[in-house]
Amino acid sequence: MSVEDSNKGTILIVDDSLTNLGVLFNFLSEAGFTVLLARDGASAIHKAHSACPDVILLDIIMPGLDGFETCRRLKANESTQNIPVIFMTALSQTSVVVKGFQLGAVDYITKPTQQEIVLARVTTHLTLQKLRHSLQAQNAQLKQEIQQRQQAEGALQKANQELKCLASIDDLTQVANRRRFDECLNLAWRISVREQLPLSLLLCDIDFFKLYNDSKGHQAGDVCLQQVVQAMRRAVKRAADLVARYGGEEFAVILPNTHGEGAVKVAEEIRLSLRRLSLVHPQSPISEYVTFSVGVSTTVPCHESSPEELIAAADQALYQAKEGGRDRVVFAPLGNTGCRCSCANPGDNSKAIAKGASMSVMPKWDENSVAATEELEEPSDTGPFASS
Ligand SMILES: [Mg+2]
Repeated sequence: MSVEDSNKGTILIVDDSLTNLGVLFNFLSEAGFTVLLARDGASAIHKAHSACPDVILLDIIMPGLDGFETCRRLKANESTQNIPVIFMTALSQTSVVVKGFQLGAVDYITKPTQQEIVLARVTTHLTLQKLRHSLQAQNAQLKQEIQQRQQAEGALQKANQELKCLASIDDLTQVANRRRFDECLNLAWRISVREQLPLSLLLCDIDFFKLYNDSKGHQAGDVCLQQVVQAMRRAVKRAADLVARYGGEEFAVILPNTHGEGAVKVAEEIRLSLRRLSLVHPQSPISEYVTFSVGVSTTVPCHESSPEELIAAADQALYQAKEGGRDRVVFAPLGNTGCRCSCANPGDNSKAIAKGASMSVMPKWDENSVAATEELEEPSDTGPFASS
């Protein structure tokens, strides 16, 4: 027997007849196969588990577990279900053969066995089994390649997201930049139109920032901008809200689903949060510290209005805050605010704001004016939102 012959494969022969076992053992060993023997179903299952043969030749009629039951158990077990089973039967009835196939056998051989037929069938099924293994290996390889590709795609997506994020973040202050602000405002606008929810916008401007830069230098000015943003972030708490650098020393806050009263509260909180930082401003004519002027506007967006109008209204409010002496919050609703409280300013507000006629100028609150803040909880005609 050559070395090549010794690698032909392992065959488990199961038969209760010693004579049959002997004949097949001698013949298949001679033909170069590794041959294992079992005389009953139970030991056949045990050997199939431990040796994992390439093919099983299985007698049907045996004491104890017969061939059918042995086959059923082999097919029911994950570690042996893929081993090809060839039945050996003296029974030639069609129903017996069909039952064997139904139980998962790949073929059958009639007894008394003819050596050439056994050899041909065993060789065929060993070849098929090798092809099956090869396909499985290729399949596993393909799966691995797909997985690697998916991982690469995931990494690429993540990198793209990071790039997109970088393109939408202001480098100095690490909040949204103007581009991101425009995207978010447009998105918030569309959602608010659809859901008929109020949308508020804050425009915040550092008072006398040019004088700050002139007196302390641009590096200090940059640090000041970063600290101002920290103060804003402390005051703007909801995940849906967006703080953005609108340009230079001007910042914007988008507050979706927020009425005017809530927006003014946030604006006041931002102003006070900055005040608490006590950033010294050597040249401010109005305070020894850096201060904020904030313009607030609110509307329930509709198809007839636009985000630009909301920006213009908030900008007008900011202008009024500056005109009114700075370090303050001014509220100017736009059209329908959807608010039940007195902050709603009926009629054509955009015109009124343009004239500066119906601007609701907020009182200049400080940390101690709790009463003014509490008043916001129960808006009334005499409250800060009362139409003038
Ligand atoms: Mg038998």
